[in-house]
Amino acid sequence: MDKERKLIIAGNWKMNKTVAEALDLVNGLKRDLAQVKEIDIVVCPPFTALSEVSKAILDSNIRLGAQNMSEHNSGAFTGEIAAGMLKEFSVRYVILGHSERRQFQKESDALIAKKAAAAHTASLKPIVCVGELLEEREGGRTEKVIETQLKGSLAGLTKAQMEETIVAYEPVWAIGTGKTATPAQAQEVHAFIRKQLEKLFDEGVARRVRIQYGGSVKASNARELMGQPDVDGALVGGASLEIRSFSDIIKNSI
Ligand code: PEP
Repeated sequence: MDKERKLIIAGNWKMNKTVAEALDLVNGLKRDLAQVKEIDIVVCPPFTALSEVSKAILDSNIRLGAQNMSEHNSGAFTGEIAAGMLKEFSVRYVILGHSERRQFQKESDALIAKKAAAAHTASLKPIVCVGELLEEREGGRTEKVIETQLKGSLAGLTKAQMEETIVAYEPVWAIGTGKTATPAQAQEVHAFIRKQLEKLFDEGVARRVRIQYGGSVKASNARELMGQPDVDGALVGGASLEIRSFSDIIKNSI
């Protein structure tokens, strides 16, 4: 696939996989995807598996991501994990503001912006998630919601930091539901996001930032979604939990 930006496809394993299961999965991916150079491949295991997965992917084309981090560097924040701790395991990416964290942990755009800044300070690349609820789409408010989330969650980033940030468009109604946005629906919002990045930063930044689509991506729909001009990769939940389904998504996107 001839793309303006290099595709980045990340698997968000969420709260799944013991260390042994994580190793089985990542070793299978390593084997199946060893020849892939055209796409940046990222896996985001739970914190408890980062150490072992990190060792398993040394000298491979798979990179490591985390699913969340604290906005603080250290201190009395029980249960939290700091960017510096992730760096110990050679983590390169961190998912921030996933809709599940926005919904269940009540994460706000302002908090996500602080986390994004802390990630950049530690040279981690944030994957900042935005996306509308079903009722917001049905009420014609998709663009307004995305605009507000982008403005709030990316507040304070420099242009250089924004270029090292990935945006994931994940319509909440498509996450884990089996309902995928059509390629045209995804492209429409991705183009809108790029226009907002131009307003918030500049045209060059907007042109270079990679925007992933997430929401029931699978091997059968990956190619068409990735073929859209402003879709630069995928954030994959359910289908990233098995070797075959995740590696087929990547192979079908080349
Ligand atoms: C996600 O949670 O980021 C996601 C896209 O999940 P799924 O692929 O299962 O819809």
